[in-house]
This record gives sequence, structure tokens and C-alpha cells, in this order.
Amino acid sequence: MKTEFIGIGSELLYGKVQDTNGSWLAKNLHSKGLDFQGITLCKDEKEDILESLERALKRSDVIFISGGLGPTQDDVTKKILADYFGKKIVESEIAASIVQENYQRYGKEWKPDWNHYHHIPEEFEVFDNPKGLAPGLGYYQNGKTILAAPGVPKEFRSMVDEIFLPWLTEKKLISTKERNQIVVRTHGVPEEMIFNKLAPTLWEDLSQFGSLSSLPQVLGIDLVITLGEGSNENEVLNRVKDVIAKTELSNNVWQWGNLTIEELLVKNCNHKGITFSFAESCTGGLSSHRITNVSGSSGCFMGSAVTYSNQAKQNILSVDSSTIKKFGAVSKQTAEEMAKGSREEYASDIAISWTGIAGPSGGTPQKPVGTLAIGWATSKGVNGSEMVQYSGDRDWLKKRFSEKGLLKLLELVETY
Ligand code: ATP
Ligand code: MG
Repeated sequence: MKTEFIGIGSELLYGKVQDTNGSWLAKNLHSKGLDFQGITLCKDEKEDILESLERALKRSDVIFISGGLGPTQDDVTKKILADYFGKKIVESEIAASIVQENYQRYGKEWKPDWNHYHHIPEEFEVFDNPKGLAPGLGYYQNGKTILAAPGVPKEFRSMVDEIFLPWLTEKKLISTKERNQIVVRTHGVPEEMIFNKLAPTLWEDLSQFGSLSSLPQVLGIDLVITLGEGSNENEVLNRVKDVIAKTELSNNVWQWGNLTIEELLVKNCNHKGITFSFAESCTGGLSSHRITNVSGSSGCFMGSAVTYSNQAKQNILSVDSSTIKKFGAVSKQTAEEMAKGSREEYASDIAISWTGIAGPSGGTPQKPVGTLAIGWATSKGVNGSEMVQYSGDRDWLKKRFSEKGLLKLLELVETY
């Protein structure tokens, strides 16, 4: 079954808003076994929308549209769909009752003459919007289905998952079968190094199990194998492990699975009953933010001190002023003292610290932008620190720094 996405909204083409609906849909539908053909972004203008629609109708069976269903001047999707299929716009009772209920959900009143949410092209299907106000629309003709949802990402996603896909399945317009995937997450070696040096036959060796892709992430490369129908996931995973164990890449695998590093940490720490805390300077709380995004993190995460100034490092984490004076704030010595201070302050089993230079200013010839020192301390007396060097812009460096420390924590948790 061929599907595709049209994102309507001039702001998507002016770089003001980044399209996340299309990329989310592509991933979601692909993993459900649907054949995703493409993403088209177009302005809120009739010619552009009609051209995109024409092309989509030629090559796909189900077309998902987002944007332009709201009440403002630039919301033109309904009118254009109506014109295209030769329908009049009419007041729909079903739509009116959906809109009324949606307003009620937010504790608000709604009257039909307040806006046009309930004006729908005649003979179009009307759908509830579980996370917003504007109803969704559907139209089926000559084997082609059009489904339109509002542009707000949380509304679009919930409408696809909770309304459109069940509706398409019930009407037998699609049959979805989750694709099994095996994900091997690696760190510390770039793609060309893996496939040219560490494991020259890896691509062929892994491709025998399914379709292989190599996806660069901040921490390293993810190898993703999408399995063919009927494959046994566990059995293939064991064979994949065997293949990789015979290569030099085996030391760089940090996970046989698809969790983020923060999810894996929370899972492993809760499982083993290990607590941890942080001392963050250059990452500015990013690592704690990531950990606290994971539900269940309160079971293992004790807290973080965001100590940006030298004074704060001394006052809150008891870093010795002479350590900072002698070695600098970005040094292995300071990092280790920060970690020790955090572990004591938060009474955690393991603490990790970050101190570095995210730039673009602040670098020196000895410690250029991208320099990071991480420190660690455990209740079993395993204390240490490491200095590394990365390159990139401020935003990317903060992410890279954070991941480096979280990876160290993962390693300490494994051997704790
Ligand atoms: P509303 O009733 O909220 O007006 P709508 O269908 O008219 O719904 P839009 O006005 O087109 O939706 O977009 C609503 C918000 O969602 C805007 O902030 C817009 O920038 C954002 N948005 C629209 N399309 C996308 C997209 N493809 N990806 C991410 N954000 C989007
Ligand atoms: Mg709108």
C-alpha cells in the first residue's frame, strides 16, 4: 500500500517552522509495513496545493495532509479540497457536535457562528480531533483516500494513530503489520572506519538478515536491520551478535536495542537498584533534563548541581579553589572533584561531572573549543576523569558532551 504526506503551510518553506509531521509519519508508517513514497511541503496557495495533490494522487493510495484546517485566513485546505473534488462546503452537524465537545473538553463554550470549524466539503468524512479543536477530514474516491488533519504536531500525531490508522484498517484500506527491526547502537567510530577498516565485510554479512541501513547519531553509528516477513527476531539477533563478535566493532557496541542512552540508564539503574547524580557545568543541566524526560527516573536519579561559575563549583561541590587555580576549571582534576562533591552532596552511588568549552568563544590554544573533561566517582571508590576533544557548534557540542558522560555512567553501572 503506497502512502505519502503533504504538509501545507508557507512557514514550512520559509524555515520558520521545521516539518516534523512528515518525518514522524514516514518513520511511523514505514515501521508499520506501509510503503511510504514521499514528503511534499507546499505553501498555503491554491496552485501549489493542487499541484502537490495531483502528483500524490498519481503515485499513492493513501495521502495524509496536515495544516490549514483552522479558522484563520491562511487556512485554505478545506476550500481547495472541496473545489478539487467538485464539492460544496456545507455546515456539518457531525462536525459541529465534534467541535462543541472539543471546546467543552477545554472548559469552553462554542457557538456555530463563531468560526468555520464545522464547515466541511459535502460527502467528506469528518473525524474527531483528540488533542485539539478542528475536526479532521477524509475523502475516498476511485481507490484513493485523502486524510487531512491540523498542522499542530501533537494533534496530527494523535489523529493519525488514534483515528486515521484504525479507520483505514477497519475499512480494509490498509493492513499493517509491524516490521521487526534489529538495532545495534555503536559509539566512537565513524561510518567509513567501520565499513572500510574495522569490519570490511560487515555490510554484506548483515544484509543477509534483511535490509540494512547505517544511521549516524550524535554518539555514533546505529546499524538498523529491517527484517523480512516471518523472521524470528531473537534468533536473528543472536546471529547478528555472532557476526559482530568476530569483528573489531564488538568493543564499540553500547546497546543491542533501540532505547536512547537515558532510557537505558534509567532501566538498568532501576533494575539494579543503583542511584546516580550529576555535576554539570558546560552542559547546563542538559544531562539532567534528558534523564528526567524518562518516566521512572525518580527511582534512580538523585539530582544535579548546575555549577557554572568557579564559585559555585567551590561552594556547592567543595571543589578546592587551589585545584581550579592550578589546573583550570576545565581540567581532569576539577572534573574529578566535582564528581566527588556531587556524589557526597546527593548521597548517590555514582556521580558524573562535566566541565568543558562549548564555544564559540572561550577557547585557548591549550584548551580549544570542544575540550571536555568528565569526572566520575562511585561509592565503591572508583574515581577518575578523562579529557576529550570534539568539534562542532555550541548546540551540537553540548549534546556530544552530555552523551560522553552518560556513556561513562552506563559503563560504570554495568560493572557496579
Ligand atoms: P489550527 O486549528 O491550529 O490553525 P491548522 O490545521 O490550521 O490548525 P496550521 O495553522 O497550518 O494548522 O498549523 C498550526 C501550527 O502547527 C503552526 O504553528 C504550524 O507552524 C505548525 N505546523 C504546521 N504544519 C507543520 C508540520 N508539517 N510540522 C510541524 N509543525 C507544523
Ligand atoms: Mg491554522
